[in-house]
Amino acid sequence: MRFAHPEPVPASVRVWPVFLPFAGCPYRCLFCAQDKQTGRDHADLAAILDGLKADLHSALERGHGPYELAFYGGTFTALPAPWPETFLALAARFRELGLISRVRCSTRPDCVAPDGLSRLASLGLDMVELGIQSFDDEALRASGRGYSGKVARAACRIVNESGLALGIQLLPGLPGDRPGLFRADVRAAADLRPETARLYPCLVVRGTPLADLWERGGYVPWTTDRAVRELAEALPVLWAEGVRVIRLGLAPEPTLDENVLAGPRHPALGQSARALALFEVVKDKVRELGRRPSLLEVPRRYSGEFFGHARELAPAYFELGVAGDSIRFAESELFFLE
Ligand code: SF4
Repeated sequence: MRFAHPEPVPASVRVWPVFLPFAGCPYRCLFCAQDKQTGRDHADLAAILDGLKADLHSALERGHGPYELAFYGGTFTALPAPWPETFLALAARFRELGLISRVRCSTRPDCVAPDGLSRLASLGLDMVELGIQSFDDEALRASGRGYSGKVARAACRIVNESGLALGIQLLPGLPGDRPGLFRADVRAAADLRPETARLYPCLVVRGTPLADLWERGGYVPWTTDRAVRELAEALPVLWAEGVRVIRLGLAPEPTLDENVLAGPRHPALGQSARALALFEVVKDKVRELGRRPSLLEVPRRYSGEFFGHARELAPAYFELGVAGDSIRFAESELFFLE
């Protein structure tokens, strides 16, 4: 039998990230470590604009692109006027020149309003990634996010109704977490059918209020094993609704890594979760086949992650009868099982 990997087709345009750490944020959230993630503790917007302008010019001269320009790390829709307009005007100039094909930003769910988003859309914004973190009132309250699940859902609707593409970011394992909460959040996110999702299991980072809470014994983060298992269960739910999961765990960053005090931080977290999700797909197909398979052909682009980190899934595949000569990586788009 032939079958496809259940994930939606990845985007073909490369993202050009522009980090605006904490810019526009009404306050610093309990867990947030944008300073450690970006290596900068504040955003000098004028300097960022000048640097971006120069970098875009140089990319254009070298014939690079097109890119999707992405403003991350702060609350773009709450930047003081006229910064959102200024950044979007720069993006629009380079869109006319063919270097930029799309613009996205990240923001908080309580910082979007229909009029404001429609105006930003008319200035060239295409997509909004919402730092939802959770749709659960209790987790949002315990994490001091300052909005309810109802506001989070309404924000997703506002983005869609403004003609913008929606991205959802979830932060499982927040204070207030309990069994089944992340599963419910993933279901809620999938039902909203965003274009993309990012899943960042909560980490305890030095210098954050969450680190103080953890040191006082008031917070217990997820283990890495739990994070891998829960992320692996979340992936097929999102994929089934056509949601591209564009990030699992925070990107590697030396200033972040040296400041993580606790929590599921592992460089191969995403690989392990994706590999486990794929293993469950293959297991179901083998069950459908009704016997031990004689061959599993795997598209070569999955060869790097198929067995998971350090071949952690090799014993489980062996149990399924997929090992040695019965597995082959091929230049194909589909998996083939017989
Ligand atoms: S979590 Fe988002 S809103 Fe909160 S401080 Fe960090 S970037 Fe700002």
